[in-house]
Amino acid sequence: MRCRSCGRPLETLTLCVRCRRPTCDDCRVDGLCPHCREVMESYRRDWEVWLGYVEERMAEIGAVVSSRPSCVVCPVLRELSLSLLKTAWEIEEAAERRGFEEVRERAERLRKGLFKVAGLILARQMAASRE
Ligand SMILES: [Zn+2]
Ligand SMILES: [Zn+2]
Repeated sequence: MRCRSCGRPLETLTLCVRCRRPTCDDCRVDGLCPHCREVMESYRRDWEVWLGYVEERMAEIGAVVSSRPSCVVCPVLRELSLSLLKTAWEIEEAAERRGFEEVRERAERLRKGLFKVAGLILARQMAASRE
């Protein structure tokens, strides 16, 4: 049996924890072969990009809520805040499953912030619909 990454013969059968391909100790880091580390790194970069997007939109919503109260009753704002909340939540769960603690913490902060913002918007909209 040879390492699938570097081709060296394996003395003991050691597998990548993700793809189960035989991988030597030198090629494995945190149990992962180079291919799987690359895949994980691309997930992480993708999540960082999405969280950056969520952060920007959240700041915009915050600005609207504080400076233009009449816009808070807009359904678009409600839908946007709920969809951002969903995105942050999904990334938080995915990052937790794969052990990306920094990403998970950032997503959790955003999820909590958005939960408050969305709650505020919903409460104002419900109050407005009763007037
Ligand atoms: Zn190797
Ligand atoms: Zn692998």
